[in-house]
Amino acid sequence: MTHRRLLWQLFPSFLVITLSSLIIIILYSYYIIGEIYLQVKVADLESRIQLIEPQITPKLLAHQYAAIDSLCKKLGSYSQTRFTVILPDGRVLADSDQDPSTMDNHRDRPEIVNVLGNGSGSAVRYSKTIRTEFIYVAEQIRTGSGVQGVLRASVPFTFLGQTLQAFKKRFLIAGLVITFIIAVVSMVVSRNISRPLEIMLTGIERFTKGDLSFRLSRAGSLEMVRLTDALNQMAGQIDEKIRTIIQGKNEQQAVLEGMVEGVIALDAERKIININRAAARLFNLEPNNVIGRIFADVMLNEELQAVIQKTFSENAPVESEILISHEEGYNLQVHSSLIRGDERNFSGAVIVLNDVTRLRRLEKVRQDFVANVSHEIRTPLTSIKGFAETLLNGAIDEPETARGFVQIINNQSNRLNAIIEDLLILARLEHDEERTQLKFKSYSVRKVIKDAIRLCLPKANDKNIDLQFDSGPDTMIKMNPDLMDQALVNLIDNAIKYSPKNSQVAIRTEISSGILTISVADQGQGIHQKHLDRLFERFYRVDKARSRNLGGTGLGLAIVKHIAHVHEGEVSVESQPGSGSTFLIRIPVKKLNKT
Ligand code: ADP
Repeated sequence: MTHRRLLWQLFPSFLVITLSSLIIIILYSYYIIGEIYLQVKVADLESRIQLIEPQITPKLLAHQYAAIDSLCKKLGSYSQTRFTVILPDGRVLADSDQDPSTMDNHRDRPEIVNVLGNGSGSAVRYSKTIRTEFIYVAEQIRTGSGVQGVLRASVPFTFLGQTLQAFKKRFLIAGLVITFIIAVVSMVVSRNISRPLEIMLTGIERFTKGDLSFRLSRAGSLEMVRLTDALNQMAGQIDEKIRTIIQGKNEQQAVLEGMVEGVIALDAERKIININRAAARLFNLEPNNVIGRIFADVMLNEELQAVIQKTFSENAPVESEILISHEEGYNLQVHSSLIRGDERNFSGAVIVLNDVTRLRRLEKVRQDFVANVSHEIRTPLTSIKGFAETLLNGAIDEPETARGFVQIINNQSNRLNAIIEDLLILARLEHDEERTQLKFKSYSVRKVIKDAIRLCLPKANDKNIDLQFDSGPDTMIKMNPDLMDQALVNLIDNAIKYSPKNSQVAIRTEISSGILTISVADQGQGIHQKHLDRLFERFYRVDKARSRNLGGTGLGLAIVKHIAHVHEGEVSVESQPGSGSTFLIRIPVKKLNKT
């Protein structure tokens, strides 16, 4: 179905209605004029009949038919009227225009039939004799003895035609003028109706394209203005609602993006409808690439898929912990629950993922720590107990053996003491680190290093190790000198312990980009790459037996790490087997100066 413009629907309709009304009016006027003309003409002919009848009647009674005929011809030419006298039997006696003897019997002529029946009669008909349309009016010629004949008067009907012709011209001119006016007015009215609608339509098209801040201009009739206002108001309200929805969505998205927990929302078909950055990061995904895709096609982790499956099949929240293993493994706590669409149906599910890897690692470190502490303490204790029992069981009486045993007991006690000492230091550091109760003061870096070297010198001398310190210009930084001394002693002591005799240990300082770096480099056996990450864990040793033999507790580097932390710094190691090791403590200088 083709749709025409409103203008082209209204304008022709208006035109057709008004033109057809005009034509009806003209035709009706035509008819009325004809009727009036006929009535006037009939009355006129009647009066002409009455006028000549007194002249005809005596002649008729006297049978002077030739006289009647000549009278008719004379009066007819005077009055431009055709008079005919007819006997009751239809014979024509006289006629203005014709020779009566040649004329037909007129008894069956309608006006004659009427006049003989009713006393008077008229008719408009075609005269075969004259071959023209005529108006005929007939009256009886009566005397006391009855109807003597009929006197008929007639005029050509063409008079009416001519009169109407004159009207027709005027009607045509008036009609054309009126048609033109109607066409112009209809056009203007149609345009006035359709124009505001077209303007409104253009505006509504802008609304549909999303430009809801656009306002339709008020034009046209009162109804159109009210419609415009209503549409503008509606657009305003929709705009406001959309803004609120978008704002809400943005806020919701901001909350989701700001969350540490990963959040994934699925619809009922298990398609991903939302995934926040934290969740995407956990699975190495790009949010825009996965939205709209089926969850199982994107998340290949079977455990996670099983959680989702269970959530949908059991219609209940599911909580679980899963292991994701790409690169290094993640422990994820998964909480999945259904999203209710309406009272009965679920429109999807939301999965909250909590990365508990650190927590689990800490738990493990603590468990390992407890196990390690027990083990570390039990070893010297077992030894002490064993030798003490052997002494009690008689060995005490053998002075040489007894001396050796007591020496071992003493060594193991020292070892136990060293472990407890280190544990206490660590505990205190952790405690102080948390409470920030440590005292810091501006102290010379050179001095703290020299003090540490002095403490380590005897052990270095024992192994003929050269402790080199390239002091350079001194720097004062804020530090806790006791702790810094302890950290440096631990590093230098390790360097001596794990270096061969007659080697060198170099201690250097450097300040760059506001960071003080103190490095302790040895020429020892070095450390394999795989140990480097765990080296600063408590009780972690590369070679347990060797460390113990050297009197190590396995806590030295853990203590160094904590000391670096309390100075807002860090410790690291660079080492390769066979090429020695370099331990570095980095401390931000500026930051400390402000403290
Ligand atoms: P330990 O008391 O056993 O020395 P640390 O915590 O000080 O404990 O050191 C942990 C482990 O790191 C040591 O057992 C040792 O294996 C290794 N290590 C530390 N310093 C060095 C070094 N300079 N050269 C080689 N290995 C080292």
